[in-house]
Amino acid sequence: MTYKIRHDRSNCIGCTACAAICPQFWEMSSEDGKSDVVGSVLGSDGWEELEISEADFPKNMDAAGVCPVNVIHLMKIGSGEQLI
Ligand code: SF4
Repeated sequence: MTYKIRHDRSNCIGCTACAAICPQFWEMSSEDGKSDVVGSVLGSDGWEELEISEADFPKNMDAAGVCPVNVIHLMKIGSGEQLI
């Protein structure tokens, strides 16, 4: 099973919670203070996306869970089910 992180970057408020709880996947930009998904692709819609393995799913669920503005989403690839 693989998953996809989707980050609505334009609505990130730069609180740093995701980077604190999951620094392997989340880092703060020194340019505009918003967070970035490490290694992600930034789409023209302003959303970052990255495929992750099942092993990396729980730590990114933790990151999504601490986001105060709910701009971190996780989907199942295949079914397209949005998990958060
Ligand atoms: S937890 Fe949410 S609002 Fe805070 S930096 Fe991460 S994505 Fe942005």
